[in-house]
Amino acid sequence: MMKMEADLHIHTTASGHGYSTIKEIVEAASEKGLKTIAITDHGLNMPGAPHWYHFTNLISLPRVMQDVEVLRGVEANILDLQGNVDMPEPVMTDYLDIVLAGFHDGTGYSGSTLEENTEAMVAAIKNPYVHVITHPGNPKYPVDVETVVRAARDYNKALELNNSSFIVRPGSFPLCSEFAKMAKKYNTLVSINSDAHICYNVGENAKAVALASKEGIRKSQILNSSAHNLSEYLNWHKQQSSLVLKKAQ
Ligand SMILES: [Zn+2]
Ligand SMILES: [Zn+2]
Repeated sequence: MMKMEADLHIHTTASGHGYSTIKEIVEAASEKGLKTIAITDHGLNMPGAPHWYHFTNLISLPRVMQDVEVLRGVEANILDLQGNVDMPEPVMTDYLDIVLAGFHDGTGYSGSTLEENTEAMVAAIKNPYVHVITHPGNPKYPVDVETVVRAARDYNKALELNNSSFIVRPGSFPLCSEFAKMAKKYNTLVSINSDAHICYNVGENAKAVALASKEGIRKSQILNSSAHNLSEYLNWHKQQSSLVLKKAQ
């Protein structure tokens, strides 16, 4: 069984429908031997989500708690076909270590066809602030898997295998399997996360890990399998995105 050193997708009470505090989450992560976690509450358009002050004020968190490194993040919402997300750019550049982005109901995204969903997801992959696309295998927002996997490979972004999907997003298994197969084929970066909304689920990823193993995903292509490789990736990404943003000015 492959072991992940980091869990990059965790919600706190600040998400409005999460049930644990950062302290409870850190305790759980420490007990489970995780080296790194990311606190990724929902972006601004999610009903019940926090004000953007929540995200800028993450600087008040200690960098390390109970021997667990705590990254400051967001699970932003993909808003449109241009790949915009619901987090002000200065907050992402100056305050956050990691930006996840995905489709969620009731957050303003109005695409409905497979073509539109694919276009929007590829645009989010190209968004220089985004690191990980969350639950791309959600059957509520079907996409062309090969197109998305190739875009993620080209832009070196990670596609998530989300352990909670098998519980809260019914029908996810076939599409997630297809994502895993294609990710293996193209050697695309993958991220395996709990998407915990309560401390007990922090680090829980057995179903997603089993799927990844079955489809032949290599440990080396999983963004969060090694805390060391993760931090190298985040540093590399920071340099890349500042280059992209400079060019765009
Ligand atoms: Zn949530
Ligand atoms: Zn989500």
